[in-house]
Amino acid sequence: MARWFTEHYPPNRYFCVVGSPIGHSRSPGIHTAFAQQFGIELIYERVEVAPGDLAAAVDEFRTAGGRGMNVTVPLKEEAWSLAEIRSPRAALAGAANTLWFEGGRLAAENTDGLGLVRDLGANHGVELEDREILLLGAGGAARGVLPALLEAGPSRVTISNRSAARAEALVTAFAAHGRVASLAWGAAPDDPPDLVINATSLSLHGELPPLGAAVIAPGTVCYDMVYARDGTPFTRWAEAHGARLALDGLGMLVEQAAAAFEVWHGCAPRTAGVIEAMRRGD
Ligand code: NDP
Repeated sequence: MARWFTEHYPPNRYFCVVGSPIGHSRSPGIHTAFAQQFGIELIYERVEVAPGDLAAAVDEFRTAGGRGMNVTVPLKEEAWSLAEIRSPRAALAGAANTLWFEGGRLAAENTDGLGLVRDLGANHGVELEDREILLLGAGGAARGVLPALLEAGPSRVTISNRSAARAEALVTAFAAHGRVASLAWGAAPDDPPDLVINATSLSLHGELPPLGAAVIAPGTVCYDMVYARDGTPFTRWAEAHGARLALDGLGMLVEQAAAAFEVWHGCAPRTAGVIEAMRRGD
C-alpha cells in the first residue's frame, strides 16, 4: 500500500515537491503556470515526506509513474546522497532540489543558485562579475547558491555566519572554485560590499542580522532569500539605510522553479508574469 503516492497517474505527467513541512509550498502553482505557457498537461502535488523517508518516497514515486520531484527543506542533502547522477553544480553544492530519472537512475540538479543569479541578473540588472559579495549564512541555502555565484565571477564572496565553523567549512569546500573568505558574525567588512545576500532564516523570525549601517554604500544591493509581501525585516532595513536595491527572494523562488522546469521539459518558461502574479497573491 503506497504511503505517499497512489498509482493512478498518467505516465510522464506526474510531478511533486517533497519536504516537511510542505503545506506552504508555492511550487504547484508556479509549475502549473509554466506548463500552461506550453500547453503541457501535468499534475504537480505537495507531498509531506519526513527526514529519512526520501529513499522510500522516491521508489514509490518511480512506481507511480512520477517524472520529476522538487525537494525542499529539510531533504536537500538527503536527495543529494540518494542521487546516482549529479550535475556538476549539484555535486559541488552537496544538496539537490530537483530530481528525475535518467535511464532508470536517479539524477539530481541544484537550481537554487541559478535561480538567485538569474533573478539578480536577468530581472534586476545586478552584475556579479568582479563584484564584492557578502553572504550571510552558511546553511543549506548558502551552500546551494555558492556554485552558481562563483561561476558568475565575483571578485570575492565573504561568508559570515553565526556558527563560524560552518562558514569556515564552506570556505574550505569552495576555495578551489573562486575567491572565498570568512568574516566573524557581526564584524564589519573593510569596505561596503556591492551585494549583501541574506541566506539566513532570520527574517522568518522577524529578526535582523547584526550589520551596522556602514555596510551599505549608495550602490549596494541587498537581497534577502526570504520573501514577504510587504518586504522582509532585512529588505526594509536595507531600504531605510539607502541601499540601491532591496530585493526579496520571491524572484529566486520562481527562477529556481523555471530552471527545474527546463531540466524536466526542455523548454524555458517566461517568469516575469508568474512573479508578478505571486507578488499580487494570485
Ligand atoms: P538552514 O536551516 O540550513 O540554515 C539557516 C541559516 O540561518 C544558518 O546559517 C543559521 O546559522 C542562520 N540562523 C538561523 N537562526 C539564526 C539566528 N538567530 N541568528 C543568526 N543566524 C541564524 O536553512 P536554509 O539555509 O535552507 O535556508 C535559509 C533561508 O533561505 C530560509 O529562510 C529559506 O526560506 C530561504 N530560502 C529561500 C529560497 C528561495 O527560493 N527564495 C530557497 C532556499 C532557501 P547557524 O549555522 O549559526 O545556525
